[in-house]
Amino acid sequence: MDKIAIVTTSWDDGHPCDLRLADELAERNLPATFYVPLTGEGSKPVLPAEALRAFRKRGFEIGAHTVSHRILSGLEQKELSREVRDSKRMLEELLGSEVHMFCYPRGRYDAEVIACVQQSGFEGARTTRMLADTLDFGRFEMPTSVQAYPHPPLNYLKNLANHRDWSGIVRYVQKYLMCQTWIGVGKKLFDEVLLEGGVWHLYGHSWEIQELGLWHQLGDLLDYVAHQPSVIYASNGDVIKLMRRKTSRVAEAA
Ligand SMILES: [Zn+2]
Repeated sequence: MDKIAIVTTSWDDGHPCDLRLADELAERNLPATFYVPLTGEGSKPVLPAEALRAFRKRGFEIGAHTVSHRILSGLEQKELSREVRDSKRMLEELLGSEVHMFCYPRGRYDAEVIACVQQSGFEGARTTRMLADTLDFGRFEMPTSVQAYPHPPLNYLKNLANHRDWSGIVRYVQKYLMCQTWIGVGKKLFDEVLLEGGVWHLYGHSWEIQELGLWHQLGDLLDYVAHQPSVIYASNGDVIKLMRRKTSRVAEAA
């Protein structure tokens, strides 16, 4: 159990470009969790319920991403509860099945938001922290490894600093600063997970991939991580389950 390598991916906002993304993932037998708000922010469209149900049939997980994609930290209790609790209930009604995972809009949350997500019955929640690759995290602060976005090095450093991940900064400078592209960072992180065990978590937004013309690069990275016999391919929700199983086993052994 200690050296297991897990691959998971997650995609935010439920944009219609997720349809292409789902095909790219399915072609390679890769898992995904799609985090979908009930209504898009501004003029951004959201996939209809029918398409989300079809995603579920294809084996993808659907997670909640609030009702209207508002930033949650600082909201009054009533509004917060509406965005979190109601998004679970409404999405479950649309899908006809349970929703276990949540994702914070723009990666913003605080202790009150976490408490609300937990009390609403979610099993876990994903953040936008990057460059993480272990199962060692709180289940309501699930980090990611790499975003499908051409971040300059400063963005990675800022992201780590925002999460007070000081050892992560040292590690980034030593290991990943020399990688020229997000694909390079993604591949190197995957090599490490394959060798040392851990979780490799790719996340992104299909509308961004479309706008920036990243489909080809994404395909290259997906090819790199797919079809590895020693890897467990899991949705975000399944990663949480694996993590809880591991933690309870460690507790039993102690
Ligand atoms: Zn979002």
